[in-house]
Amino acid sequence: MDFTKARARMVHAQIARRGVSDSRVLDAMREVPREAFISAGFEEFAYEDSPLPIAEGQTISQPYIVAAMAAAADIAPGDRVLEIGAGSGYAAAVLSRLAGMVFAVERHQSLTEAARERLAALGYRNVQLMTGDGSKGWPQEAPFDAIIVSAGGPRVPQALKGQLKLGGSLVVPVGESHDQRLKRIVRSGETSFEEDDLGAVRFVPLVGAEGWPARDETKPVPAKPKILAQMIGHAAEPLPAFDDPNFGRLFDRFGHKRVVLLGEASHGSSEFYRARAAITKRLITEHGFTIVAVEADWPDAAAIDRYVRHRVARAGEEVPFQRFPTWMWRNTDVATFTEWLRRHNEKAPAPCGFYGLDIYNMRGAIAAVLSYLDKMDPEAAAIARERYGCLTPWQKEPSVYGRAVLTAGYRKCEEEVLRQCRALLEKQFEYDDGDEFLDAAQNARLIATAERYYRIMYYGGAESWNLRDSHMFDTLTHLLNSRGDDAKAVVWAHNSHIGDARQTEMGSARDELNIGQLVRERFGQDAALIGMGTHCGTVACASDWDGEMEIKRVRPSRDGSYERLCHDSGEPRFLLDFAHDPALARRLMEPLLERFIGVIYRPETELQSHYAQAALSRQYDAFLWFDETNAVEELGPEHRGEGVPDTYPFGV
Ligand code: SAH
Repeated sequence: MDFTKARARMVHAQIARRGVSDSRVLDAMREVPREAFISAGFEEFAYEDSPLPIAEGQTISQPYIVAAMAAAADIAPGDRVLEIGAGSGYAAAVLSRLAGMVFAVERHQSLTEAARERLAALGYRNVQLMTGDGSKGWPQEAPFDAIIVSAGGPRVPQALKGQLKLGGSLVVPVGESHDQRLKRIVRSGETSFEEDDLGAVRFVPLVGAEGWPARDETKPVPAKPKILAQMIGHAAEPLPAFDDPNFGRLFDRFGHKRVVLLGEASHGSSEFYRARAAITKRLITEHGFTIVAVEADWPDAAAIDRYVRHRVARAGEEVPFQRFPTWMWRNTDVATFTEWLRRHNEKAPAPCGFYGLDIYNMRGAIAAVLSYLDKMDPEAAAIARERYGCLTPWQKEPSVYGRAVLTAGYRKCEEEVLRQCRALLEKQFEYDDGDEFLDAAQNARLIATAERYYRIMYYGGAESWNLRDSHMFDTLTHLLNSRGDDAKAVVWAHNSHIGDARQTEMGSARDELNIGQLVRERFGQDAALIGMGTHCGTVACASDWDGEMEIKRVRPSRDGSYERLCHDSGEPRFLLDFAHDPALARRLMEPLLERFIGVIYRPETELQSHYAQAALSRQYDAFLWFDETNAVEELGPEHRGEGVPDTYPFGV
């Protein structure tokens, strides 16, 4: 394969366009074949705009960084240049095209040897390599016209400053791994130096006397480095504590989206809820989001909405979220978030609402429509009562309705619920009371969808799932429309609803669609789909539908799953933003197993019941990782009084 074109494109698009104009540097970047320095199997990524893994857990720097450092060091023909952290030898090769002689130090002998072979094969003769601690420089060959450090230490190594010629420059990254700055230090006199800051960067650690202490290196190095896990570790942006404002700030990059969908890998892990709350708070307070739409039944979420927006409770309203699975919304994390939202709305110019997208509480929806009409239009209420009467026998157990219609020839209520829904919608401008009408209309829509849902559920297959997710998407659309042209929404739902179904077995093998897919089709780049995952821990779940809540151990993730790759990255909590790392995103397009734990978790049959094939970086725009997670805590009487007012909507 001829890489000349790819290299020319790289120099133009990634380097020149970003402001490196030194023509000698650009020529050197065009000359050195980066593909010769990459691990076998990764050559195709050689000209991606990103760092790539090499052996010993190290990386070859992003091409732009190599060029920017070389340009900053201002190297003249004939110069003697020192590089610390030779790694693959790539940067040394580039420097050798600019300088008279390059000296490069690398602490891993295996890397030094491999680099030496590569440089010899390419015929680059003006590079000398040495294995050792480069934080102390190379005193025997000093002084140097320029020194480039390709690894980041806690401070500028003094030894290196001392090995600069007068007028020479040292380009060196300094700082904690995720907060490094690139510095240029120019020796202006025997003991005087001038320093300037060239911006934020991210290098692997400089390990040595004037660098960081070595980590425990007695552990055996895996025979074949797990290159994907390493790439994940490198791309991972660590997540601060949930209550640290920096947590929310990491998500400012999604602030301009119209819809941000936040998934979860189970319905019972606290970390997923807390992450969503922290992100959502930031989107609400800093980016104008006014809709939080969740995978909960509309009438139940409406009770919470009335509470958080300081509206009056509906007379005779049932305590919300009493249906299985109660812990999914009646838990301390959701309670904490709703308390926050209520306080936020006290002062907010545009209060943020809390809405349910789901369809299961048909009984609550019927009660809500009737109560609304009783108030607005008693005549219409009488007609509605009669129409919904068709469903009365089944209200408590709507799933029996579907079976009765299909197998015992009972009359179906389709006609009545549709007619009632249309009748109500036609009254929009007559009733015209904003929130209350929207609430009643959504309840009427829910009843119509649920009636159909419970009937077609008995055929199995994709149709009932698709009906449910289409309803959720329609509800989201109604919400956005009701809040005006530039309304913005956050959605909380399971990964299986949020991740684009076309990129998983759901879409490819079962013809199922979901909200994530529908949102992408409608909003394109204006939407962000964010999934979450975990390796192990505990989870609140049930063994069967309608069963008791149990706390079970989550089995460590399987070999060959995305979860295992994330675990093997060694980073405990992080954000992977696929837009920031195209090389990694391309690697994570190859289907692997992904774990889906819903309300039910059956560890005994985990592979069959909870793992499915997916293409992670296509399914989501970003992925959040929590290596170990803990079960949510269900609200109970013991939470009464803990600063929770009596009016509290969960009625504990
Ligand atoms: N310039 C390299 C980038 C390598 S990454 C390239 O183009 O491929 C940084 C390298 O610095 C790693 O290989 C790491 O092993 C090495 N390193 C870290 N601390 C070092 C030290 N004190 N002395 C020498 N090399 C060091």
